Amino acid sequence: MALIVHKYGGTSMGSPERIRNVAKRVAKWARAGHQMVVVPSAMSGETNRLLGLAKELAPSRAMQSYHRELDMLAATGEQASSALLAIALQAEGMEAVSYAGWQVPIRTDSSYTKARIESIDDQRVRSDLAAGKVVIVTGFQGIDGEGNITTLGRGGSDTSAVAVAAAMKADECLIYTDVDGVYTTDPRVVPEARRLQTVSFEEMLEMASLGSKVLQIRSVEFAGKYKVPMRVLSSFTPWDIDINEEAKSGTLITFEEDEKMEQAVVSGIAFNRDEAKISVLGVPDKPGIAYKILGAVADANIEVDVIIQNVSKDGKTDFSFTVNRNDYTRTVELLKEKVLPELGAQEVAGDTKICKVSIVGIGMRSHVGVASKMFRTLSEEGINIQMISTSEIKTSVVIDEKYMELAVRTLHKAFELDQPAA
Ligand code: ASP
Ligand code: MG
Repeated sequence: MALIVHKYGGTSMGSPERIRNVAKRVAKWARAGHQMVVVPSAMSGETNRLLGLAKELAPSRAMQSYHRELDMLAATGEQASSALLAIALQAEGMEAVSYAGWQVPIRTDSSYTKARIESIDDQRVRSDLAAGKVVIVTGFQGIDGEGNITTLGRGGSDTSAVAVAAAMKADECLIYTDVDGVYTTDPRVVPEARRLQTVSFEEMLEMASLGSKVLQIRSVEFAGKYKVPMRVLSSFTPWDIDINEEAKSGTLITFEEDEKMEQAVVSGIAFNRDEAKISVLGVPDKPGIAYKILGAVADANIEVDVIIQNVSKDGKTDFSFTVNRNDYTRTVELLKEKVLPELGAQEVAGDTKICKVSIVGIGMRSHVGVASKMFRTLSEEGINIQMISTSEIKTSVVIDEKYMELAVRTLHKAFELDQPAA
């Protein structure tokens, strides 16, 4: 008998029929003798629908100024789906109970709409499990020190599930979703993309931060910190498939590098169009420039990603960086108003039509020439690289958005990701 956490995403919970399927699957696991904790997302589209209603009522002010009430509102989506799942399980003849975040409780800090989990009290859940019940813990939400309802950021029920699994020292956390695992890249862009049987936690962390939408990045951080065994798998297999087969399906996130896993140098290719490039041109090249520019940006709570500074010519240089596209206008305005005059820089230029393409693999630690192969591959396609950033296990390039799919496809082929692992 094991203690297992299941997490079901919005699509898996998308209709009464699908919720019934989830209930049947969970019942199968419970009847096989496992203690089951289930963390559901809101039914698909529900969080957007709720936040859309708020927008209709608050057109003039920034949504963020309503953040406390937005959390009150958005948390209802998960509360509804949790109760529905409990009902479906009971209808299947199982004993089941659902708890909102505050009832567990799942304690968080007070940063509404992006709260962090601080602690989880597992007593109530444990005693229900001991009494033979399936326990449903509402995803995405918690309660802060003052008793306010908080939410964990979009996609946050992944983090709820992993945090519950960590707190309860669960044997495994299974993330059921609408894809059947983690792929070498998005199969909608590259049909030859393959599902990875295993992926290292570090690679998963990079992929999540680089725009792969399979898991919320915080859930991966949590899994890493507490070494939670975690698997991503499909909720669209028939609910009555053999449980042992199901338990081995999908993609397992591993922590041991030398555990037998697919030994590719590059494991995956990530890409995103969420960023925009900003250049401050003709900046006097003297100490404190990066600080003046990026300090002002950071003070406005704008996150910066790739950064480059050119060599100077005649004592002047160009300084470029990327920000989230949503922050583009705000950043340009800020630089024009506050930073340009102070710096004596000539101009702020920008480009929103860029994308970032990254190769990821822990094999890059022990192999040389991986990045140069990436650059060569792109140059052979005539794709100009505008910016580069690297870490131990990834290389990212910023290129013109219109070449994104071409870049991803040719890199996928060049690194033989379409070939079955040896
Ligand atoms: N329902 C929330 C969202 O749509 C949380 C989640 O699904 O994980 O972002
Ligand atoms: Mg999700």
